Amino acid sequence: MNPPRHETKATCCYCGVGCGVIIETDGQQVTGVRGDPDHPANFGRLCSKGSTLHLTAQPLLQQQVRALQPEMRTDRNQPRRNASWDATLAYMAERFADTIARHGPDSVAFYVSGQMLTEDYYVFNKLAKGLIGTNNIDTNSRLCMSSAVAGYKRTLGADAPPTCYEDIDHAQVIFIVGSNTAFAHPILYRRIEDARKNNPELKIIVADPRRTDTAREADLFLAILPGTDVALFNGMLHICLWEELTDSAYIAAHTEGFAELKQTVRDYTPAYVSAVCGIPQADLMQAARWFGASKATLSLYCQGLNQSASGTDKNVALINLHLATHQIGKPGAGPFSLTGQPNAMGGREVGGMANLLSAHRDLGNPQHRAEVAALWDLPSVPSQPGKTAVELFEAVRQGQIKIIWIACTNPAQSMPDQKLIREALRTAELVIVQEAYTSTATVAYADILLPATAWSEKEGTVTNSERRITRFKPALPPPGQTRHDWRIAVDFAHALEARIGCNTLSGSTLFPYDSVEQIWNEHRASTRGRDLDISGLSFALLEQRGPQQWPFPEGASSGRKRLYQDGRFPTASGRAKFVNVAYQAVAEPIDVRYPFALTTGRLRDQWHGMSRTGTVAQLFSHAGEPAVMMNPGDMQRRFLTAGDLVHVTSRRGTQILPVQTGDDMRSGQVFIAMHWGEEYLSGRGPRQNPDDACYGVNAMTNPAFCPSSFQPELKHAAVKVLKAELP
Ligand code: SF4
Repeated sequence: MNPPRHETKATCCYCGVGCGVIIETDGQQVTGVRGDPDHPANFGRLCSKGSTLHLTAQPLLQQQVRALQPEMRTDRNQPRRNASWDATLAYMAERFADTIARHGPDSVAFYVSGQMLTEDYYVFNKLAKGLIGTNNIDTNSRLCMSSAVAGYKRTLGADAPPTCYEDIDHAQVIFIVGSNTAFAHPILYRRIEDARKNNPELKIIVADPRRTDTAREADLFLAILPGTDVALFNGMLHICLWEELTDSAYIAAHTEGFAELKQTVRDYTPAYVSAVCGIPQADLMQAARWFGASKATLSLYCQGLNQSASGTDKNVALINLHLATHQIGKPGAGPFSLTGQPNAMGGREVGGMANLLSAHRDLGNPQHRAEVAALWDLPSVPSQPGKTAVELFEAVRQGQIKIIWIACTNPAQSMPDQKLIREALRTAELVIVQEAYTSTATVAYADILLPATAWSEKEGTVTNSERRITRFKPALPPPGQTRHDWRIAVDFAHALEARIGCNTLSGSTLFPYDSVEQIWNEHRASTRGRDLDISGLSFALLEQRGPQQWPFPEGASSGRKRLYQDGRFPTASGRAKFVNVAYQAVAEPIDVRYPFALTTGRLRDQWHGMSRTGTVAQLFSHAGEPAVMMNPGDMQRRFLTAGDLVHVTSRRGTQILPVQTGDDMRSGQVFIAMHWGEEYLSGRGPRQNPDDACYGVNAMTNPAFCPSSFQPELKHAAVKVLKAELP
């Protein structure tokens, strides 16, 4: 007799499209996965990564790569040994209490993840900012979306994508910039393909240094030089002004600051922009005309804009263009930042970054701090800004931060300039890693390993790129001794409260939670009256009506698809703000010693550091090994043939890789995918001893970051490429 089959609705745990999935189990293990036909993000479709999710949860594999019980060492020269939860949490609480007493609350830090659920994020944020009193909590979303956050806030007044997926169906022009949507957000790209079939008039413009799969299908491809996006957008605005494609009535009624920007973009003549961006003037003119003259232009953008030392300026310049041409606040139009991770949006909503507080509040705003303190029953929350990702690891390296707790992320692969990151992890007095998998490079540095539940075992909510919140339930119980991320934080908080006392005004615990629903209810109450008000979104409503977009205040009958349709913006004046930005070159321009522009990106079938997709053999059929992609002319001039091993070297590190012909590359540029780390290059499996050697593309990348968003320039570094001499 076949075992009974169970089906549970969830979302895919990879990208920010947030596709709905149905997980099939036999009650013991995941037996299959299929797209949820009722989920409005994907209507049943899944890409190659989503449709193989069940293969990452096979029992044998789970035994090999899952962290299933706490491990601890008190002597760094010894291996970690299995420990009970009670002993582990007690030891952690003792170390935290002692370190805080001796060095203050800013001597500890948390580095969390856009893979966490909203409730996990909420509790970690409260643990750091509420109980411990430090704002040293940042997230791998800093590497992903923080420039988009800063761009929206500076121009539109709130961190809220004003658009929705349905806008793809209404757009007349889709402007894709800094995004290989076909690979990074495949199901959204399927929707673009459908829109093109349904509307033969639809024009697609792609701006990207590489001729990606997305660019190949464009009506107009602008192969801009790396980092020149601001020049492109200002140049397009210059042309729109000359050709009277701006909307002066809209500008006068709903915006401020245009006069100053107009002065700036006067200098961005087609000849100048063509030279800076390395594109023909005629293509630039065509792009501006299509953008400005269309009834509805939708921009889709991602890491190509965000992962830059001028990432906020790039976001702002594009939003300026939308505001000036009134391509916002109407169906099919608007600047739509595509979220990289599955719940980077949820993390932003709960204030899970060093400079944010709950419900899109700002740490720098005294009133916002007072509101959060009142919500949490605290006398105050700290005003001292926390360290952002690059700063945080630098502070660990310098010994200012003594304890670092890393949850659900792998900075020993994903952070730029790996040499410094690994030095930081060796310098820290205590490294705690909360993980579902033992195979990540970061686990090798852990003094304490906290085993966490994984996709298919978790319960809570996530928010996708279009502000849509999905609630899901666990398909399987936690394996081994794993605990949910929120539960680990709460159990630790109780252990720490027992040592340092509850700091609430009432004297009761800050963490009175026995379920994710209690955390969710506290979070949604904190959003009341804010731009993202979700006070009306109870678990019962999400269960009954399915995924919903925010805002969804109490008493609302539905969420809002599209924002700013009335021309009012959540700024002090109610008007959107033009921000005057000028083009700046990349942080590390190429020169004679480092003559190649290295750019990084994603492959179609892999996700981040491959801790999950790397376990599925069929996902290697698209690209089986790491390589450096190089223009064929550049290879010929260096007497290189495909498969030759080369040293790729920046000022920070080097890597030996096979070279492959990249006909999508301009001369002078090379590309390396972000996915491969040392565990794939030096033999897979759990590692006990950290290796000094730095592998993966982030051995070479540049930690220079945007001064507004603090997002590092992972997309560009100057490198040299030399044929490797074989012994
Ligand atoms: Fe998962 Fe993204 Fe693929 Fe959807 S598009 S199935 S969310 S990886």
